[in-house]
Amino acid sequence: MPANIPKGITRDDVLNGIAAYKNNTPSRFIDSTKYDLIYKGEAFPPKAILGLSAMRLNAGKPLVPSDFSAGESSKCFSILRELGFTISIKKGFVFDSDYTDEDWESSEGAVVYRSHKSYERDPQLAKKKKELFYAEHGRVFCEGCGFDFESKYGERGAGYIECHHITPVSQLKEGEVTKLSDLALVCSNCHRMIHRKSPWLTMAELKKLKA
Ligand SMILES: [Zn+2]
Ligand SMILES: [Zn+2]
Repeated sequence: MPANIPKGITRDDVLNGIAAYKNNTPSRFIDSTKYDLIYKGEAFPPKAILGLSAMRLNAGKPLVPSDFSAGESSKCFSILRELGFTISIKKGFVFDSDYTDEDWESSEGAVVYRSHKSYERDPQLAKKKKELFYAEHGRVFCEGCGFDFESKYGERGAGYIECHHITPVSQLKEGEVTKLSDLALVCSNCHRMIHRKSPWLTMAELKKLKA
């Protein structure tokens, strides 16, 4: 998405934007689902604030949502951060388990999956893995190639990544429990290539292929 953000937004503009938001100045922005701009202990939707902050430079009108994108590594966030504002992930933002290896097994390895019925694939584990990864890196991205859904697709891609079980189901012992270290976060392309042929690629093999 092109970033049609006028140059020259100042910290005062942003403070005016926050005031305009608090005064319910009409704009076409909706509240953010993932991020908060924190100012004096209050939380505001970062994209709406930037849109309202541009009024002075945009003939007195706020920008519209299609003018620019928000999210990690967006111009919107870097402008706000450079002006000294804090943007953080919303408290209680929950990662979905999204696409995990259960989907693969039900389509391609049904027999294997059934014979390991006692093996529990905790769907919460994929979420936990993402939360920890996010806490460590500030974003989620493919451990094979670095692809970041959010930087490519904006807010729609925020928090999306697939979860790959490093140990093939066929090699698991009955009743074995998955640990977080058994999981890798991968983009859809890498995930598909890992499983395209048997035996599956290890993460090291995947990275080598890409090099
Ligand atoms: Zn990848
Ligand atoms: Zn997988």
